Amino acid sequence: MSAADYVIPALVQPALPVAGTTKLFPVRRIWCVGRNYLEHIREMGNDERLPPFFFAKHADMIVPSGATIPFPSLTKDCQHEVEMIVALKSGGANITPDKALDHVYGYGVAIDLTRRDLQTASRKKERPWEIGKSFDNSAPCGALRAASEIGHPAKGRIWLSVNGTLRQQGDLSEMIWNVPEIIAQLSQQVTLGAGDLIMTGTPAGVAALAPGDVIECGIEGLEPLKVAFAKG
Ligand code: MN
Repeated sequence: MSAADYVIPALVQPALPVAGTTKLFPVRRIWCVGRNYLEHIREMGNDERLPPFFFAKHADMIVPSGATIPFPSLTKDCQHEVEMIVALKSGGANITPDKALDHVYGYGVAIDLTRRDLQTASRKKERPWEIGKSFDNSAPCGALRAASEIGHPAKGRIWLSVNGTLRQQGDLSEMIWNVPEIIAQLSQQVTLGAGDLIMTGTPAGVAALAPGDVIECGIEGLEPLKVAFAKG
């Protein structure tokens, strides 16, 4: 394929930086785990015993660390959810938990930005979640660190602050479904592939954001992430 084969210019491949290198990780799909930390399930008033479920964001919704983004449209309750992202270097269907980590390239920090009012309204109407979860700039993502360098984090502090005030804090060890189990479950639903990102759920403390807010977050051992909303 060359540029002349396309009726409009071919799209730029979304990608994440890899910390400590000049290389990029190309992004294929973004999957997100619905509920994965007990305290967050409790604060949302949801059933603690249900298996995980997944929704998607588009790769071009990624925002790099350091960016200032417009406050999202339509919402009066845009909330932050800090999450660890798992980046896959390979994939497949029906992956077993014992083989799942063989497919992981590395890990990073992300925010699953959520228009909570629109998500809640769509859920009440039994409509899909896109309007609440999948919108422009809804996936701020920090640089990745390679598993070959840092291993596979299963514990460590995860936190998020807004304008310097701590809002979310937890530990990766509090995940109900661990990374191998998440990969195994998701690979039953879709065939996973190289370039896929999985957001692994958020700890308690989700809350509303406002124009002008500066959001900083991190996970022990991973690259931190910082984004800001433009002033209203
Ligand atoms: Mn989330």
